[in-house]
Amino acid sequence: MAKVRAQSGMVRMERADVLVVGGGIAGLSLAARLAEHAQVVVLEGESAPGYHASGRSVAFAHYGLGNGPVRDLTALSMGELAARGSVHPALHIASADQIAALDALEAVHRHYGCDCTRVGLEEARALMPALKPEACAAALVDHASLKLDTHAMLQAHVASLKAAGGRLVTGARVGAIAREGNGWRVETSAGAFAAPLLVNAGGAWADAIARMAGVQPIGIQPRRRTVISFAAPEGEDVSRWPFTKTVGEGFYLLPEGRGQLLASSMDQTPSEPCDAAPEELDIAIAADRVEQATSLPIRRISHSWAGLRSFASDELPVIGAAADAPGFFWCAGQGGAGFQTAPALSRIAAAAALGLPFPEDAAAAGLSFTTFSPARLGA
Ligand SMILES: Cc1cc2nc3c(=O)[nH]c(=O)nc-3n(C[C@H](O)[C@H](O)[C@H](O)COP(=O)(O)OP(=O)(O)OC[C@H]3O[C@@H](n4cnc5c(N)ncnc54)[C@H](O)[C@@H]3O)c2cc1C
Repeated sequence: MAKVRAQSGMVRMERADVLVVGGGIAGLSLAARLAEHAQVVVLEGESAPGYHASGRSVAFAHYGLGNGPVRDLTALSMGELAARGSVHPALHIASADQIAALDALEAVHRHYGCDCTRVGLEEARALMPALKPEACAAALVDHASLKLDTHAMLQAHVASLKAAGGRLVTGARVGAIAREGNGWRVETSAGAFAAPLLVNAGGAWADAIARMAGVQPIGIQPRRRTVISFAAPEGEDVSRWPFTKTVGEGFYLLPEGRGQLLASSMDQTPSEPCDAAPEELDIAIAADRVEQATSLPIRRISHSWAGLRSFASDELPVIGAAADAPGFFWCAGQGGAGFQTAPALSRIAAAAALGLPFPEDAAAAGLSFTTFSPARLGA
């Protein structure tokens, strides 16, 4: 694609090859790749990138969530993620009636060749001393999981985008999208833009952006997740405590520096797209689950936040052109794994957008363009 930027008429309008709506991890990771081949402009409605889901992640990469293809994407991403994270163990705990689920999770880890160890209560408590015996009949230690630096990831993509001649325009809320010739004209609070290819990386707003363009929505559902932060026991350095997660419903818990802990009850309450805020009940449930399973007293919640994780009905990302609208490209539905899948998913998305072959390593894992195509959702 030719790199073109121009102005037309009295009203300033910027032309590019590709417009990406959404400056979260989905939009920025794809934009950085596309910018090596085309003139790319990312339009972000907020004053900074990563304000919504991407700024609210707990930033961990592991195999304890997602379905098969999401785990494949995670495995394909781990090498690249290692440069943006530090190895930090994960401890998947199971009560006596969850042993079958732990067995299945261990099989998943072994399938990906993950360095992991099955342990009993005492070994688990050697790593995470606050665990109550009834919460942990057995556990799986993943020695290779990663604590990610999500800010660094976002900034690295912005830097790559700019280095290749692309632009991130913040404060550019998209308010209208119309067909213009074979492409799209996009009106934003920062002016008008036009391009033949429009990427929808709007996170929780992905369906709303499609509607704006007259494209059939695909049923992206935002779900709210709440995180609480509280002080670790007096004088205890918890920084080496593992990311601790129940194999089924329950909670996860992880250190934030030496003296703070983060926890979530893994809530996923359906929500409208919005600037999500934590609800008192969800904060209380998270604190209660931690207190039930550990000896940690939560006297005060230091801080809490919520963010929206956005899913298609089959909980797989949606990557590819809309069948009813040539040049409208979906990059949505990253769910609860948008960071840990971004390296592989953005390679797949860039190949699809540029008409290049499907990446060989992803094909060897059994994935294809069809796995993620919006056509599977009838769109
Ligand atoms: C509490 C929590 C914990 C998580 N933990 C992890 C984890 O440990 N590991 C992991 O991999 N993932 C995790 N996730 C998931 C991860 O954060 C998401 O998958 C990812 O951030 C989704 O990225 P996105 O770019 O699609 O969405 P977003 O970051 O929400 O980006 C979409 C952007 O589009 C913009 N936008 C929308 N409409 C418009 C418009 N009209 N005009 C202009 N801009 C617009 C928004 O402002 C927004 O910035 C977590 C999420 C939450 C909420």
